[in-house]
Formats: sequence, C-alpha cells, structure tokens
Amino acid sequence: MTENNNLVLDEILKCNRKAIAKAITLLESNLPESFEKGQSLLESLLPYTGEALRIGISGVPGVGKSTFIEAFGLFLVNLGYRIAVLAVDPSSELSGGSIMGDKTRMNQLAQHPKAFIRPSPSSGVLGGVARNTREAMIIFEAAGFDIIIVETVGVGQSETLVQSMVDLFLLLILPNAGDELQGIKKGILEISDLIVVNKSDGEYEFQAKKTQSEYKKALNFLPQRNTSWQPQILRCSSIEKKGIENIWESAKKFQKILKHSGELEEKRKIQASKWMWSQIKEGLLSSFKNNPYIKIKILEFEKAVNKGSILPTLAAKKLLDEWGNKKKI
Ligand code: GDP
Repeated sequence: MTENNNLVLDEILKCNRKAIAKAITLLESNLPESFEKGQSLLESLLPYTGEALRIGISGVPGVGKSTFIEAFGLFLVNLGYRIAVLAVDPSSELSGGSIMGDKTRMNQLAQHPKAFIRPSPSSGVLGGVARNTREAMIIFEAAGFDIIIVETVGVGQSETLVQSMVDLFLLLILPNAGDELQGIKKGILEISDLIVVNKSDGEYEFQAKKTQSEYKKALNFLPQRNTSWQPQILRCSSIEKKGIENIWESAKKFQKILKHSGELEEKRKIQASKWMWSQIKEGLLSSFKNNPYIKIKILEFEKAVNKGSILPTLAAKKLLDEWGNKKKI
C-alpha cells in the first residue's frame, strides 16, 4: 500500500468525511491506476468491516422512501447510531436522469453529523453502480457507521441486486397496495424480510390497515421460508413519525435471530462469493468483447445469425471456441 493510501486509511478509520468522500470518488473512477489504488485501499479496510447492519429499502416512486429514510434515520441518529445512506438507481442508467431526485432529499438527515448521504451515481451501468455501492459500504463500515441503508426503486433488477448486498430487505408499500395484490410481483415479496405499509395516517389509515391484513393473508400463500425469520407486515407514517420504533424493534429482532442461528454469517458468505462470480462474469465478457480478433468475428457471426444462416447457439459456441483457441496461442 502506498504512503498516501495509508494516510487515507487512517483518516477513514477516524471517520473523516472528506477522506470518505475522496475514497468513494477514487473507487468510482474508471482509470486503471485508480482501480489498483482503490482495491488496495479496500483490502486494507476489510479487517475493520462486518459490524454494521445493512438494510435495503425499496418501493415504487412516490411510496415515501426518502420521507421514511429521513424519519427512520433521524430516529436512529437520536439513539446514537451513525448511519449512511447509499442509493442504487437504475433509472439514471436508462434515461440519464434519476427517479430518486437530487441531493436535496432528506434535508435534515443530510445535515446531521452522525449521518452521511451519498447521492446515487448518476451514470454507469447497473452492474457498475452495484459495485460502487458495495465498495462504498466497505468504506462506511470501516469508518464505524452502525447502519448502512441502501435505497433503490422498484424498477428493473435493482431489488435483487440490492438484496444481494444487504442483511435485511425492507419493502415499502402504499396504503392502497391491497387493490393491486393480484398484480404485485411475487418475487419481491419473496425477498422482503419486512413489508411496511407507509402513509398510515389521516384518511389513509383505514386503507393501510386493510392492506396490512391482506398482505398478511397473501404471505400465507407463499412458500414458507426455510429460515428462522418469517417476513413481517408493519405499518407506519413517515410524516407523523408513527410506527418507526416498531420497525426498528423488528429489524433488531431480525438481526439477533439471524446472528444467533448463524444464518447472517452464511448469508454474507454466499453474497461474497456471488459478488466474486458477478465480477468474473463481467470481466470475462468485457475481455471477450474487447479482443480485437473476436470483435471482427462477432460482426460476422451476428450477420449470419440475423440472416438465419446459422443458429444462435452454434454461433455462440463457435465464437467461444475461437476465443478459447486464441487464448491458447
Ligand atoms: P419516494 O419517491 O419513494 O422517495 O417518495 P417521497 O418520500 O418523495 O414521498 C412522496 C410523497 O408522499 C411526498 O409528497 C411525501 O410528502 C408523501 N409521503 C411520504 N410519506 C408519507 C406519509 O407517511 N404519510 C403521508 N400522508 N404522505 C407521505
């Protein structure tokens, strides 16, 4: 490790905000020398990680994610915890704009000395954003943050991605979500550990209670999880700050049960090897696509596939064989 990296390491461990921001920028850079530097920094930070509770939060735009995170985050910092909020926003990849909006969200929390909000990276493919987020998590954990929240929108594959990097996955739903119960993605319910009906206040409260009981019933139809934890359905009002403590109690219970049973450690091990494999896949694909000889061959085979003169499966096999042979030379 370079002397410069050593200094950064010390400052991160002291939770110096400038050093944290600098390290994140370094890891987001695409320059090869930054990659080496960044990876060596991460390696030296690893021994100081693993203690935080990692929570993923998802829900459709408008469900109240930022309002909830602000209320939940302020509740936690008032208990003395340090919290970091990171975002994975696939919309920024698709349109260049972000559904989750700009840095002005969660104003009060953003100004709190015990909180750090990292705006979502505004560019890059989802895989890259996921890598950046995972690496930022390492930095925040080493800096001593107790709770890391990773926020995402219910779009594309971002929920599964986020679920693969957190301990607990919390889904926020709207008070009238019961109406759409038929249409709700079964997959998302299957990965959620806590489902929270937000906006349970005023005129929405009755509807929110109804939705809560409908979801309770719906969960009975899902296959029972082979884990010590069964998903819970709760209600809250992020605006009136009601039900927040209850959610925190459930999250603590979840952590305690899974730690005790060894499932949390196991989950993290599986996540780490999945992460390695996703990096291998990405690396292989990019090395394949960027090989100058293969680049030409891809064009030829693609034309043939489009014309229908060769089947895609055979074309793929031939291309991979060509690549394999090239590598042997
Ligand atoms: P996001 O797009 O999921 O981040 O949602 P926002 O946090 O921006 O909230 C969307 C809208 O819902 C805003 O107008 C909020 O004021 C409102 N909202 C959020 N939480 C609550 C709540 O608990 N109760 C009520 N009544 N409105 C809420």
